[in-house]
Amino acid sequence: MQIKLKEILKNLFKCKHYGALLYSNEGYCPTCGKYLKKSYYIIRCSHCEIKRSAKKEFGKIIPDEKFCTNCGEKEYYIEKYDKLNFVDINYAIEVKEEIDINHKSQDFEIWVDSKDETNEQETQKNEKIFLPRQTKFLTTEG
Ligand SMILES: [Zn+2]
Ligand SMILES: [Zn+2]
Repeated sequence: MQIKLKEILKNLFKCKHYGALLYSNEGYCPTCGKYLKKSYYIIRCSHCEIKRSAKKEFGKIIPDEKFCTNCGEKEYYIEKYDKLNFVDINYAIEVKEEIDINHKSQDFEIWVDSKDETNEQETQKNEKIFLPRQTKFLTTEG
């Protein structure tokens, strides 16, 4: 539960880069300024190797169905491509991945700090979100 809550929070504050890479495969996000590169992921059954339909959930690529509809296998593996092949158009998941160049992307970090050992109720209240580097303090002096 703890981990799931963290993941949700992380995704909530994360830029989804909606307006980014509309006409190119890599470049800066107009919303958050991070350098992004497009990648495509395909999930294949580890038994019969058929392509399985996939989806993105909390930033992870997972198969749509629990079991392979072709052979019933549960295990799968993920393939990554730089370019989208036309035949994969129905299976590939497009991901705009952040690339860390010159640590430019690190000036806005969100930390969710929680103490797992203490009891549940307290833990939830204790969660703090720190915005360490971009925080600016307004001063009263002109
Ligand atoms: Zn962005
Ligand atoms: Zn299979």
